[in-house]
Amino acid sequence: APGLMRGKRGLIMGVANNRSIAWGIAKACHNHGADLAFTYQGDALKKRVEPLAEEVDGIVVGHCDVSEPATIDAAFQAVEAAWGSLDFVVHAIAFSDKDQLDGRYIDTTEDNFVKTMLISCYSFTAIAQRAEKLMTNGGSMLTLTYYGAEKWMPHYNVMGLAKAALESSVRYLAADLGQKNIRVNAISAGPIKTLAASGIGDFRYILKWNEYNTPLRRNVSLDEVGDSAAYFLSDLSRGVTGEIHHVDAGYHVVGIKHPDAPDL
Ligand code: NAD
Repeated sequence: APGLMRGKRGLIMGVANNRSIAWGIAKACHNHGADLAFTYQGDALKKRVEPLAEEVDGIVVGHCDVSEPATIDAAFQAVEAAWGSLDFVVHAIAFSDKDQLDGRYIDTTEDNFVKTMLISCYSFTAIAQRAEKLMTNGGSMLTLTYYGAEKWMPHYNVMGLAKAALESSVRYLAADLGQKNIRVNAISAGPIKTLAASGIGDFRYILKWNEYNTPLRRNVSLDEVGDSAAYFLSDLSRGVTGEIHHVDAGYHVVGIKHPDAPDL
């Protein structure tokens, strides 16, 4: 229904280009009437995020690199200056050294382990700390995770550990913030060809495997993740917190390859 999110103000973190999951979410929220603000990571992405923000009548609050806490503070100060308060925040941020999203998990270095955890897991908590202060009227926080948190997936490696910790943080944050009527949830998205995903070894194989073996016999789209996100970010999900919700064409229920599925 048009107007589902009318009057709601949300910060979208993690748009790199028009194939980003964060962009799919932004479009859905805009279609439901939400007001949006965006951060970008570095000048190279600024040029991409600005025209996209304009497309959905959003504002750009500035550079935010979650490995530099001062830039997270600056982004939330800019949101406060523009709006005074905040209703929702989307965290669609992850990073690991590309060389280690290939091959064996056991070869992860300490340096990349720490970096992956910081950017892909702790950053959601760092953002929640700032967002809590602006969610004076309750709120909804949403992050993105992947099935590789629950089960071994080829090449996902240390990112799987980071997503497992991220999913656990959703539960702890939900408990901490529930009394303020701030809800915290995650969408576990099926594989989608984005900039971040293209860093994962054999990603095309994973996409094909899912296309042939999900119950819906296809992959999910940005719009489908966006529509599910609109549920979490609107009052439709007002009784839901601490949830990890699969938007993966049902892949999480699959045990083995379907006998009718083509070989790869
Ligand atoms: P993407 O490349 O479009 O987005 C990743 C974003 O992370 C980029 O905007 C990038 O700027 C940001 N980022 C990385 N390091 C950062 C830092 N230090 N500070 C601030 N921002 C930083 O790719 P995407 O696939 O849309 O990724 C969004 C989220 O969805 C990620 O958490 C990813 O793990 C998750 N996810 C993706 C898939 C998939 O198949 N694409 C599936 C499940 C979950």
